[in-house]
Amino acid sequence: MCQENIDFVVIGAGVTGLSVARELALAGHQVVILEKNTKWGQGVSGRNSEVLHAGIYYPPESLKARLCVAGNSLLREYLQQRGIPLSGLGKLIVGWEPWHVDALEKIVANAKNNGVPLTTLAPREVRELEPNIHVSAALFSPTSAVFDVATYLHSLYREMENAGGMGFMNVEVTGLTPSHGAWEITGREGTDEFALRAGVVINCVGLYADAIASMAGVPIYEKHLNLHFCKGDYFSITPQKARLVSRPVYPLPEIDNLGIHITPDFCGSVKLGPDAYYIDKTEEYSVDPQKAEVFYQAVKPFFLPLEPEDILPAMSGIRPKLQENGGPFKDFHIKQDLPGLYSLIGIESPSLTSSLAIARHLHSLL
Ligand SMILES: Cc1cc2nc3c(=O)[nH]c(=O)nc-3n(C[C@H](O)[C@H](O)[C@H](O)COP(=O)(O)OP(=O)(O)OC[C@H]3O[C@@H](n4cnc5c(N)ncnc54)[C@H](O)[C@@H]3O)c2cc1C
Repeated sequence: MCQENIDFVVIGAGVTGLSVARELALAGHQVVILEKNTKWGQGVSGRNSEVLHAGIYYPPESLKARLCVAGNSLLREYLQQRGIPLSGLGKLIVGWEPWHVDALEKIVANAKNNGVPLTTLAPREVRELEPNIHVSAALFSPTSAVFDVATYLHSLYREMENAGGMGFMNVEVTGLTPSHGAWEITGREGTDEFALRAGVVINCVGLYADAIASMAGVPIYEKHLNLHFCKGDYFSITPQKARLVSRPVYPLPEIDNLGIHITPDFCGSVKLGPDAYYIDKTEEYSVDPQKAEVFYQAVKPFFLPLEPEDILPAMSGIRPKLQENGGPFKDFHIKQDLPGLYSLIGIESPSLTSSLAIARHLHSLL
């Protein structure tokens, strides 16, 4: 890559950067996307539950609620039009303790405020849908689904390129300096150094979005934009037991995650998880096999056929959270922080679902 003047530079080729770059390229803008890995989609976008969320839990009017609800229909239509696998069986949110009934009612009220359909099911109706799920109360979300994220990311990249956008992999941004109404971007391309100028920079680097903003001069601590890493581990269920459930089944949500849930993917494998715990700011993805008992105990109350030997350590992901450990809800940060510098910080779940709506929203801010 030689030194050039570019109108829009997007840093980070996860689902957020790819959606934004595609949106800008389709609108006829000159856009380049820079990614430090050798391929797109290997950051947070490659390590998640692959659920198309409905928008049930987020506070009404928050960006998370609005962009999730809008993103759900945009992405559903996108996937269907391109034949990208989407399992449209909906999802169950289940309760088995007497107090769960009230908690489920609160979820219905919040979903209603967000304009999201949810149906209350009797235990008999749950058994008709999922004969192996035993609960005393449940909700059914018809607009939740599971989809093939890798194929979606590939499609976004190709459409961005076909519209004239350019992607450069193996390019790590290490410097951002304002210069005469534009931005000087420097970094490494493999073992070489590079420099280019951009009219507008869009920071979509997931776990490192606070570091990139800080590098550009945004006072991230003063603005409470520093990120916390919150890891989520998954176990998988052996194929014999995986066949016993066909759609995502969630318990009641916890403060910083949706609770350890059962998620069948579009190929028939079934994941358990993720849990949620804050870690130091390092990308460490091992899964402690000794946690199997915790995962087993979390799901056993409603998935009776499960036995301890049915679950195996699988994978993990890390959430880039603005929310501190035990702290209050924090929304997506999608803003122009400095002239010509747009930051997308705290882009955690439901940002896969929201990706096309996030891209539209960002475009509307330019
Ligand atoms: C455990 C877990 C489960 C989840 N489940 C769901 C779900 O079911 N549904 C849903 O909607 N959402 C879900 N999410 C959220 C969703 O996966 C993420 O929010 C989303 O993938 C974030 O995408 P991103 O593009 O912002 O970040 P990333 O995918 O991390 O992309 C950022 C990119 O920037 C690159 N980069 C970093 N630094 C630099 C640099 N200096 N120079 C150049 N490139 C750089 C990285 O290599 C990376 O490719 C989940 C998240 C987690 C962690």
